[in-house]
Amino acid sequence: MRLENKVAIVTGAGRGLGRGIALKLATEGAKVVVADMAPADETVALIEKSGGIASAFTVNVSRQEEVQAMVKYAIDTYGTLDIMVNNAGINRDGMLHKMTVENWQLVIDVDLTGAFFGTQEAIKYMRQKGYGRVINISSGSWLGNIGQANYAAAKAGVVGLTKTAARENARKGITCNAICPGFIETDMTEKLSDTIREQATQQIPMKKFGHPEDVAEAVAFLTSDAASYITGQVLCVDGGMAM
Ligand code: NAD
Repeated sequence: MRLENKVAIVTGAGRGLGRGIALKLATEGAKVVVADMAPADETVALIEKSGGIASAFTVNVSRQEEVQAMVKYAIDTYGTLDIMVNNAGINRDGMLHKMTVENWQLVIDVDLTGAFFGTQEAIKYMRQKGYGRVINISSGSWLGNIGQANYAAAKAGVVGLTKTAARENARKGITCNAICPGFIETDMTEKLSDTIREQATQQIPMKKFGHPEDVAEAVAFLTSDAASYITGQVLCVDGGMAM
């Protein structure tokens, strides 16, 4: 158990990657706040069934006061906060020349500003504590992807945010790293058409999509003591797509 006595928050943990991450951190011994805009009770039940400790918290990560309440809830409930995983994210794909300002702003608000609020609020507490692990879930799309100007901009912003947070807090016992998943089997990728899915698979050297557990393993490693000398990095979990 690599995360015994640690307390973690995972946003967007009601399903998909966030659920996989929350389950893994709990299996490693962490007490987990399963935070999501949608009901997250199913994730909590899965954790409890496997003997872990977790509770659900309702949050919209694009609202600062709700993110502040979420961090306070973790500290009040479990006594501290060691690990913050900013995973909640959405996409609203469309070609740039047709993209509405609403779809631009919505993705920036959730994917980038949400990660900013989560990172900032966690770090305020972790700086006092002299210990912390922040993981921001970016995406392989941060390098640019057709139909994803809003999402790529937000996810590239997440990398800049993470590297800055890493530099500013390295002397305070806090590490901040980003993970860039490639194509992972979740509700987000389930809506891809067969043609897009086939084209995507061709781009992946391993010729298959990944699973939430693949990303969760990377999060568990980066939040463990084994990774205490690693900060400001971008780890791709993508079957070799970006190399
Ligand atoms: P998903 O759509 O399956 O799940 C996202 C979860 O986030 C949902 O439970 C949803 O309710 C929650 N959420 C959405 N907006 C929220 C908000 N404003 N506040 C709080 N919670 C909110 O998506 P996923 O595939 O599990 O993606 C998780 C993260 O991984 C996202 O940041 C996504 O961009 C990133 N990612 C996913 C893939 C992939 O292939 N699935 C690839 C690269 C990056």
